[in-house]
Amino acid sequence: MATTATLSPPSVTPPTYHRIVSPTLAIPTDPLQPIPVGLLACQRDPLLRELTTTAVSCRVSQSPSVRSNGREGKKKKPAPAPTAPLLEVVLHDTIIFPEGGGQPADVGILTSSDGDLWDVVEAKRHGGHAVHYVRLKPEQNVDDAFRLFSPGAVVGVSLGDQGFRRRLDHMCMHTSQHLLSAVLETRLHVETLAWSLTAYPAPCYVELARGLSPEEIATAQEEANRLVFEGRSVHVEVEELDPTVKVMSGPSVGIPSNYTGGVKRTVVIDGVDRNPCCGTHLPSIHNLQLFLLPNMEALARATTSSVRLYFLAGPRLITHLTSTHTLLTSTASIMSCGAPQVPERVQQVVEERKKATKRVEDLEAELAAAIASEIAACAPREGGELVLRRHRTDDSATALAFLSAISTAFVSKHVESGSTSPYLVVLSSSPSAQTSASTTVVLVFGSGDQKVKDVGEALKAKLNVKGGGKGPRWSGKFTGVWKDGREGAALAAILESVKF
Ligand SMILES: [Zn+2]
Repeated sequence: MATTATLSPPSVTPPTYHRIVSPTLAIPTDPLQPIPVGLLACQRDPLLRELTTTAVSCRVSQSPSVRSNGREGKKKKPAPAPTAPLLEVVLHDTIIFPEGGGQPADVGILTSSDGDLWDVVEAKRHGGHAVHYVRLKPEQNVDDAFRLFSPGAVVGVSLGDQGFRRRLDHMCMHTSQHLLSAVLETRLHVETLAWSLTAYPAPCYVELARGLSPEEIATAQEEANRLVFEGRSVHVEVEELDPTVKVMSGPSVGIPSNYTGGVKRTVVIDGVDRNPCCGTHLPSIHNLQLFLLPNMEALARATTSSVRLYFLAGPRLITHLTSTHTLLTSTASIMSCGAPQVPERVQQVVEERKKATKRVEDLEAELAAAIASEIAACAPREGGELVLRRHRTDDSATALAFLSAISTAFVSKHVESGSTSPYLVVLSSSPSAQTSASTTVVLVFGSGDQKVKDVGEALKAKLNVKGGGKGPRWSGKFTGVWKDGREGAALAAILESVKF
């Protein structure tokens, strides 16, 4: 009989996860007071998806957009113009995590006692408590919100499917970061200077003081995955924050200086790591297979240099595998080869392309010289003048460059021949098919600057060619294709009027 193994993460947080290790610390029970950040339900029970609690306060937000606590970098785009009022709702307890420890905030839903659903678009820590930013829907109004979120009113808090997927991804990446930093420190003695939980689905990174060799990266990955395979448990120890201890240790590591919740949380990966952190962490690292991207990114700053090591775990790793696999298989299909042959085939195509480009260049030079000879052969003997127009069809994106090559070849032939006969040549080139992007290019060159200029001006005036020139050359273009009965006839008339 076949056996099956279940490898899904635990759906219930074990009771041993959240440990208050101080005999004097208790979770506030007054429903009219907010539980401080550090002891929130999302931090005590990270797998909890719904909670019933009470409202503490509700007000209209003074800022039109939600401001960050200043930990998301300077590159953040300005928030879009507000479309509806934004409320700041404080609850006694919550499962919606307000950003912290490098972990972005959750999104979720509040349910008021009348059954109405309110969208929490952001959550922030203000000093020591969590503030839910509720964006009103068109049918919702501020007066109802004040009534339904009055102090003591019963409120349901839920992450919803979307919110939980987002949270699960954040927890996977955050707990993996603790594991990775611990392994880097204990095995390779490399300290983590900072880290970034970048927006899904990009890889996250830890910033390190030095680069790692491919062997070191492989060692770190292997060691981390050995611990993952063992399924080491994770728990959190909570005690009062000692205000005399300096705990701020980096831009996104440690306890922030403006935190006033009075609680110190230490996240412990059994036998591996102890780290102060306010984030929500999975109760176990089992199933958190870690993938380290082998290419590090070096950063040079004014005073220091550091490197970024990118990593993936959990749902983000699956998304990454899916997208890279799709890219590889679609490339293999285009190249008509198996996935392992893709680098070799692409290399081959690039080499062939280089050779083909070189051959096109050589042939173009040869053809330009041949056309120039043909034009030169049209010149009447013994002091006669040459006035000539020639149209080409060419789908090249650099058709003007080819016309220019013809003119250069013609001029050098003319000089070589020792001829003093005057000449004026107009070359034009159009793509083979008329589309909205079809552009015709025109090149005028001659032995007399004034005549070249006159023809250029006439092309501008009569054929709406946009262009200009200097000395013996004038070039221009217009949108559309060249018709001999239209542009050709008009040019013939222009050339007639500027005869030598
Ligand atoms: Zn952390």
